[in-house]
Amino acid sequence: MGDNTLDKTTIGTPHTGMIATWQHLPLYGRIVIGVIFGVVAGLMLGSQAAVLAMPGKLVLRLLGALAPPLILAAIVHTFMTTRLGGPLAARLGWLLLLNTLVAITVGLTVANVIQPGQGAGLTPSSLSTETTQRTNPLGVFLENVPKSLLGPLGDDGKVIGVIFVAVAFGVALRHERHRPIGTVEHVVELFLDSLIKILHWIIALVPLAVFGIVASIVGTEGFVQFQALGIFVLSVLLALVIQAVYYLVRIRFGSWVRPGQLIRGGRDALVMAFSTASSTATMPVTYVALKDRVGVREQSARMGALVGANFNNDGTALYEAMAALFIAQMIGMDLSVYQQVMVVLTSVIASVGAAGIPEAGLVTMTMVFTAVGLPVPYIPVLLTVDWFLDRCRTAINVMWDMNVSCLLDGKQKG
Ligand code: ASP
Repeated sequence: MGDNTLDKTTIGTPHTGMIATWQHLPLYGRIVIGVIFGVVAGLMLGSQAAVLAMPGKLVLRLLGALAPPLILAAIVHTFMTTRLGGPLAARLGWLLLLNTLVAITVGLTVANVIQPGQGAGLTPSSLSTETTQRTNPLGVFLENVPKSLLGPLGDDGKVIGVIFVAVAFGVALRHERHRPIGTVEHVVELFLDSLIKILHWIIALVPLAVFGIVASIVGTEGFVQFQALGIFVLSVLLALVIQAVYYLVRIRFGSWVRPGQLIRGGRDALVMAFSTASSTATMPVTYVALKDRVGVREQSARMGALVGANFNNDGTALYEAMAALFIAQMIGMDLSVYQQVMVVLTSVIASVGAAGIPEAGLVTMTMVFTAVGLPVPYIPVLLTVDWFLDRCRTAINVMWDMNVSCLLDGKQKG
């Protein structure tokens, strides 16, 4: 796959001056600036700042449009390129399922006990701008942004949507037009790379979206939501720490590797996961760390860090489930047992389908929300903290790879 680092997103030719300075700032720096300006704009404009929520809705719509083809291409690519089978594969499958369910259970338990969204006092309609959308020009524009990247090619008959998709792929493929295509694998790779390039562009809009969301929230609701978000961040961190402790305890009793040894040997991979927010980009580092520093057998390192890593994102699963519950609590919506089960199931699927790239979890979250009937317009609220939580959950995703490699290696050192 292509370059997975989104921190220096550039579109087309390199810029100079202020745009270049902006592009050279890491993504989190741009988001923090968006938050600061958003607070100021919200305080100055008051309830008029509500219209600024539009970029957030646009980014969300674009992310949602990208989700199905991205999941499709990532899974097709994984199945085409990874070597499966053998006795370790069944064990890997079992560990995959077990760890993901533990992660989601931890996430749901923490969210149910702490109730981070309680008391935010949002009404289900306070972020919904459906009605204003159709009556202002920006709303009409938004209506024509395809809900699904491949949708306009189906029967929804929106020609403008086709043009959006054509321009996106046309520009994404400009630099690839001389790339030799020899095998089917190359075709799938090209499709996946183009989607990731488009995702980079959308991520470049995130600071603007954050600015608008923060301004509209501060202007219309004050700071109540941010208190709730702070508690949410702490709850997610607590749940991720519990998951990490679970991994280490399992390693202590299920393999010859000692937890301290794993942390020391694997710290490069963990630090890289945190700094890039991409478990795919970290994959080679994880593999080498496991093989050379920790000392597990080559086959175990390969199964955990290269094969399993494509399917498992425990940190993402835990986060998606917690986010769904958090938003439900914020808007005072009680999720029935059936809906909570749906949260579990869709979080598993969403985490398997999430590519190991920054913000992939946010892309698949639209799926979880839709499945349980939670209003998707609330997802932008999470954009303000996602850049940080993404890094933390990516570290846990990588820790899963390490955990599984150690468990597959068994109690006897090879
Ligand atoms: N960034 C995560 C990863 O690379 C995926 C996610 O967004 O949850 O593993």
